[in-house]
Amino acid sequence: MSKKNIVVLAGDGIGPEITDAAVGVLRAVGKKFGREFAFDYKDMGGCAIDKFGVPLPEATVAACKAADGVLLGAVGGPKWDSQPAENRPEKGLLGIRAAMGLYANLRPAVIYPELASASPLKSEVLSRGVDVMVVRELIGGIYFGPRGTTADGAAYDTEIYSESEVRRIAEVAFDLAMTRRKKVTSVDKANVLLSSRLWRKVVVEVAEKYPAVELNHMYVDNAAMQLVKDPSQFDVLLCPNMFGDILSDEASQITGSIGMLPSSSLGTCKAGLFEPIHGSAPDIAGRDIANPIATVLAAAMMLDNMDMHAEARAVENAVGSVIASGYRTPDMGEGKRVGCRKMGELIAENI
Ligand code: NAD
Repeated sequence: MSKKNIVVLAGDGIGPEITDAAVGVLRAVGKKFGREFAFDYKDMGGCAIDKFGVPLPEATVAACKAADGVLLGAVGGPKWDSQPAENRPEKGLLGIRAAMGLYANLRPAVIYPELASASPLKSEVLSRGVDVMVVRELIGGIYFGPRGTTADGAAYDTEIYSESEVRRIAEVAFDLAMTRRKKVTSVDKANVLLSSRLWRKVVVEVAEKYPAVELNHMYVDNAAMQLVKDPSQFDVLLCPNMFGDILSDEASQITGSIGMLPSSSLGTCKAGLFEPIHGSAPDIAGRDIANPIATVLAAAMMLDNMDMHAEARAVENAVGSVIASGYRTPDMGEGKRVGCRKMGELIAENI
């Protein structure tokens, strides 16, 4: 079995602590399943500004493009807030997404029964289970369309999608649905927007290639309402860029805990970018109290992307066992108190 090259972008704040924990878990996976992983640490974000004067050095881009997977902690922090806009840590993140052509952002929102009390939703709403995968188009739509200001001081942005942009993200959603509960809900505003009518037409065409998958369409306003009313009705939620931006944050809050949720961004490179949804948490950095679970679960998504599905399930199951055994970092509420490093070690031991 060939060696997999993983670029680790630890980044800033709690980034180094949480990626250390995830790398420890991957090493345990390597041992258990006879896999070889090589970890190549590169700089991005504030740490890269400190060392090289730029948030995204060329060497980082080259390594990420050649890798089998990229694991990111988080970037940013008050130390770099006074940097000019074009040289801020976040520019590194936008730059690497563009350089790797990452057009699909996947954010699973899963609720662990033991942590349900942290959710803002009532237990009777959660009792049917929450296991939603938001698939968001990441490099098209209104965030990237033509924009400007007019002579009389008005401002405009343009929602624009080509058929090929919709087709490739829809295929990601349907492929994922085939590995899950075989249901895609496509979100649009086709009653008002022409771009949404194109979106719906192309999604219907893609659906024809996946007869086993049930497709339904939902207007975005209704989807926002249904997510809090009955999240159990959703399997894969397929969204244009802006709608996905909003609904993925809403979905993540249903689970009640920012330290638990991973995301992956996939595109034209064989490697995807895998990261927690949270930021660099400068307020708790260096104190060994951050929750590494989101980053560990991001590593599981990376394993899936490398076709190591049994390995990925082993990581998810190990996280589940550690939670069921009552271990909690401070953000997870009452339980057997552990820090970031210990939580990582416990998950690794459970592989
Ligand atoms: P944040 O997600 O870093 O923190 C929000 C709150 O959640 C804080 O109280 C933090 O302590 C807590 N938190 C976050 N992750 C946690 C974890 N794993 N365990 C326990 N608690 C956790 O958001 P913020 O404070 O708005 O941003 C801080 C910095 O992170 C900023 O510089 C921001 O630009 C950056 N940021 C980076 C990314 C990224 O790299 N992808 C994403 C969002 C924010």
